[in-house]
Amino acid sequence: MSRSIVKLLFFVGLLTAPHFAEPPAARAESARIDRAYKRLAVKYGFSIPDRPVFKNNIRGDRAPADKVEDELDRFFAALENLTVSFVRRTGVNKVIVCENLAHGGMKPDGLATEDSIYLKVGFQERTVYHEFYHVFDDVRHEDKKWRALNPPGFRYPQEPPEKSAHRKTETAAAGARDDWRKHFVTDYARTAEWEDRAETFSMMVHEGPKFMKRVEQSDVLRAKMEYIIEQTSRASLLGRDYWSERLGLTRQATDSTPRR
Ligand SMILES: [Zn+2]
Repeated sequence: MSRSIVKLLFFVGLLTAPHFAEPPAARAESARIDRAYKRLAVKYGFSIPDRPVFKNNIRGDRAPADKVEDELDRFFAALENLTVSFVRRTGVNKVIVCENLAHGGMKPDGLATEDSIYLKVGFQERTVYHEFYHVFDDVRHEDKKWRALNPPGFRYPQEPPEKSAHRKTETAAAGARDDWRKHFVTDYARTAEWEDRAETFSMMVHEGPKFMKRVEQSDVLRAKMEYIIEQTSRASLLGRDYWSERLGLTRQATDSTPRR
């Protein structure tokens, strides 16, 4: 007797629980992202729409909410390697995780517009840093100061050829020289100055102390690292101590290491 009452209550419970959890109108829209993720997003100054919005010729497919939530766990874990103030100051106001992300015949891991970040399901952790830096960096701004850090004769494919005839012959093999490789964190970094900056930043965050091994091989890369540090270490961004902690640069180590 008492057993059947328990069963009945359990059955009623199953029937009624979903109605208490969500109003019927919300249930009709099948896949909604849990509110906990949305609250966390608010802390960082952006939103996570239930339905991805695609613009600027960006294409993709909506992923099931549980898949998106798994990816958001990884995404927010990556954000913990930055700071709330930096993320807020980048100006990102929408983060979209989707499947089959595509743009102009490419299938990238991530994309950035002036105010949004797109990540494909299965994105690499360092793509998060790369895309945030793009938005922080105003996506595609040109900076002579950055370009001047590269070895003489190097130019990015997007960069217009130098007017001087001398420079022109020098740059004929731009990007092809193997001894220039060490000045770039990846081959992709050589494709445009904004990609170079985003790649350098993402590797600095991702590799931490290991990044310093690269810098030991290249003064060009050291100068790029210093540029990134200068751009991002204000108190209102990553903060003054961020990079010394992230890259393992204790005061003692920087003082005793001779500069090459
Ligand atoms: Zn990029």
